[in-house]
Amino acid sequence: MTASIDGQALLASILANPECDTARLVYADWLQEQGQEERAEFIRLSVRRAGFRCAKNKHPSPCKSRGPGAAGGPHHLCQSLDAALDALMPAVARGLIGGYLDWHTHCSIVGSSEVQYDSAPGNKSPQDESIIVSAHRGLVSNITMSFADLLTHAGKLFAVNPIERVAVRGAEPHDNRQHGESGDFAGPKRLEWVGLLREHNRVGVYNIPRRVFAHMPTQLPHDHGQHRFHPTREAALDALSAACVAFGRAEARKRRAVDSEPMSKE
Ligand SMILES: [Zn+2]
Repeated sequence: MTASIDGQALLASILANPECDTARLVYADWLQEQGQEERAEFIRLSVRRAGFRCAKNKHPSPCKSRGPGAAGGPHHLCQSLDAALDALMPAVARGLIGGYLDWHTHCSIVGSSEVQYDSAPGNKSPQDESIIVSAHRGLVSNITMSFADLLTHAGKLFAVNPIERVAVRGAEPHDNRQHGESGDFAGPKRLEWVGLLREHNRVGVYNIPRRVFAHMPTQLPHDHGQHRFHPTREAALDALSAACVAFGRAEARKRRAVDSEPMSKE
């Protein structure tokens, strides 16, 4: 009991200070004490690896990347760290997403640092039922999922993972110029998300669930009501990610508030 409370406190410290390496290393020490040596080592090596400029498993040849404190010049420490992380991945993959094995019963390593969790492996369209995560500095930072999974599981996912980026499977902003609004064809490119007015309305390619859309700020002068416009597809996807992250963190806060209720009543 005490052990899990300590673990939660250490995770909370990471979530509150996602940039802090020390919080992660302290958590790694705690995992080590709990006998979770592989996860502990994965975090330590990942934090160390993040100090190098080259992307994981994408080294120029010869790799001239420098770590913090490296004297300089070509070296291969980053490559040996990558090899060590790849070797640890099979052991840490199942637990990477944290406390989710009750739902995600099947997981597979799909990229050099990506893990896919399937809630219903072997079904007709597993892509629709899966969550793909990638870790940065030892913990899940990026996640790809459907709106349905986000709405259902965000509270739990964001309560234990320092998620910074969300990609929603199948979501594409609407190219507003093709819409045929008078005079719009010659105007600047506008990519649009549309917020649903009601919870039960159909979530679509560019239709955002109401609860997520509520976290999307108004940015451009022609934004109005349930319409948000962006100059590029990238900007639109960034805004959607930011809204999803804000929604997820809010859900996690609600969840913690509910969890702590019985204690505060005492
Ligand atoms: Zn390298």
